[in-house]
Amino acid sequence: MVLDPGHNGGNAAVPEEINQPVPAGRGNTKPCNTTGTASNDGYPEHAFTFDVSQRVRRLLQQHGVTVVMTRNSDDGVGPCVNRRAAIGNQHRADAVVSIHADGNTNASARGFHVSYSAPPLNAAQGQPSIRLARTMRDALQDADFPVSSYLGSDGLAPRADLAGLNLSRRPAVLVECGNMRNPEEAAAMRRASGRQAYAEAIADGVLRYLGLS
Ligand SMILES: [Zn+2]
Repeated sequence: MVLDPGHNGGNAAVPEEINQPVPAGRGNTKPCNTTGTASNDGYPEHAFTFDVSQRVRRLLQQHGVTVVMTRNSDDGVGPCVNRRAAIGNQHRADAVVSIHADGNTNASARGFHVSYSAPPLNAAQGQPSIRLARTMRDALQDADFPVSSYLGSDGLAPRADLAGLNLSRRPAVLVECGNMRNPEEAAAMRRASGRQAYAEAIADGVLRYLGLS
């Protein structure tokens, strides 16, 4: 499977590079990449997504799953969103999971949501991606993470505007773990034990989807 930690720690230093438009699917373009959000006290989304992804990778490898990461450090630039999708396609991943955290300015907004491409542009974006999204949602809920209070429905948010999902030819979802502007969720994301809890739930979702748990 392919794990895609959102953003990268070096993005902010090279705006001209990460603002380059790249194909985003459905005839649109998007910036190559973005800096991502941060908690009010300065914990960046790119650090959170990279740490959680490494934890997910370890957990999945313990179950014999081959894991490819779209980036292997948190101090580089990119890759662009279209390149991230291409990595999943080239490896013929059985599942692609992008990991993000949201930055909704409403501090009371909280909870996770799982996005998938809709309407689907190929067979993998249809039933397989919907099943991956529902399985991931169920695993996060079973780990007591609340569904989003402000976006989507029952923790699911079909999207037509996310390049990584639009360009995927493999079953793919994007997990927004929570709202970094919500003080309670930001505090959990800052704690190693909090990131481990997210990682265990996401790994559980992958294992269930792959029929390994
Ligand atoms: Zn993000």
